[in-house]
Amino acid sequence: MSDKQQIITIDGPAGVGKSTVSRMVAAATGFTYLDTGAMYRGVGLFLQEQGVDLTDSSAIKRLLATLDLQLLPAFDKNCDVGVLVNTRDVSDAIRTPEMAMVASNVSALPVVRDYLTTIQRNYGEKGGIVAEGRDMGTVVFPDAAYKFFLDAKAEERARRRFSQLKAKGVDADLNEILAMTRTRDKNDSERQIAPLMQAADAVRIDTTEISVDEVVSLILKKIKKER
Ligand code: C5P
Repeated sequence: MSDKQQIITIDGPAGVGKSTVSRMVAAATGFTYLDTGAMYRGVGLFLQEQGVDLTDSSAIKRLLATLDLQLLPAFDKNCDVGVLVNTRDVSDAIRTPEMAMVASNVSALPVVRDYLTTIQRNYGEKGGIVAEGRDMGTVVFPDAAYKFFLDAKAEERARRRFSQLKAKGVDADLNEILAMTRTRDKNDSERQIAPLMQAADAVRIDTTEISVDEVVSLILKKIKKER
């Protein structure tokens, strides 16, 4: 048995297919799926509603101490994880392109990252999770046994997001989604703490030309080989 934590990390930029892939890998391995993007979105919505000054880290810390953030499991591979903010169901409200930008902005704040990193490590304490995000393999679970980094061209990622939103009946503009994807890539990669980057020991998979099923199968093969 390896000393490493029995955790699968799946990191990568916005719209690369991490959520669908992570849900399928969780279903195939029996591990629990941890959607850390949903956590940043929940915190973003909460702080936005509170109207707190985002440069006032003491005020943010005080507010976060009053926050009860709960994740609701995804029902199937096509369904997003839900979020409760102080028992209020915000599952739909957090899934808009605007909330993605709000999440990206608050995710650069050290006080927010400290808060969520602690909660995420608690989830992973006993192992048996598939942790999806930007800094899972680098910062939150550096000792994870299986690390993956998914990547794809920005145009392809924007196109996928656009199709997902359309399928949900959300009005969206492809060019706007592409611009937001690029802005989020830049914010997430250039921030000072826990930037989006591949862990040195992560397996990189370019998903531009391959299907979700193929990505999942590559991941499961790799895990099986190392187990
Ligand atoms: O993955 P998702 O698009 O839901 O993430 C929303 C935002 O939350 C990202 O753009 C990123 O800024 C932030 N995030 C993060 N670290 C994570 C997960 C998400 O900074 N582990």
